[in-house]
Amino acid sequence: MNIILLGAPGAGKGTQATKISERYNLPHISTGDIFRANIKNKTEIGLLAKSYIDKGQLVPDEVTCAIVKDRLTWDDCKNGCLLDGFPRNTYQAEQLDTFAEIGAVVNINIDFSLLMDRICGRRVCKDCGESYHVSTLGGATACSRCGGELIQRADDNPETVKNRLDVYNEQTAPLIDYYTKKGVILNFTGSEAPAEVLFAEIAAVLDKKIG
Ligand code: ADP
Ligand code: ZN
Repeated sequence: MNIILLGAPGAGKGTQATKISERYNLPHISTGDIFRANIKNKTEIGLLAKSYIDKGQLVPDEVTCAIVKDRLTWDDCKNGCLLDGFPRNTYQAEQLDTFAEIGAVVNINIDFSLLMDRICGRRVCKDCGESYHVSTLGGATACSRCGGELIQRADDNPETVKNRLDVYNEQTAPLIDYYTKKGVILNFTGSEAPAEVLFAEIAAVLDKKIG
């Protein structure tokens, strides 16, 4: 089954995605991760994407849709995949409908007042992508999972985050309605509780859907 993870930046999509992907053996496809890998490797796509990501704007739809469309043809997607960060606007959702069937949309709602601190305090592992919050690191600079160096994403700064939240409200939030109408939305509420709490709720619902 193809599953979409929907939620504002900082809602915890990445963390939940890792857990969902492991539990149901679905490849985790994060457009943000794909763009960051391209930026790191200095590809043409990376160069283009960086100019948008640095400003907190969406990378153009043609580029983003082409990447996802191609990625879904890989062998590991034949039993489904987990889309994290795509689609992000109605046009992308409509395009996705032309090349994939969506079985469920896991929507994480969260109080916006939590997001700025969450994102600006976020540190991510350079090697495995695991994310942490500075307040819980106690000064540690290495990933507890793989030992990789913890870094701050270039777009995790207050000004860019404000733009990302505006983009979410204007362009991505309407997808909640889009998928509600299709009858595939599953609503959850994120909080300050540990990620395991939310994951337990998500898994309880997905277990019944996926079996
Ligand atoms: P977050 O959800 O915290 O904003 P992501 O890693 O999903 O983080 O995305 C980071 C940036 O990558 C976005 O701000 C945007 O510029 C770009 N991006 C990711 N996914 C898409 C998409 N589906 N369409 C356009 N741009 C995207
Ligand atoms: Zn790591």
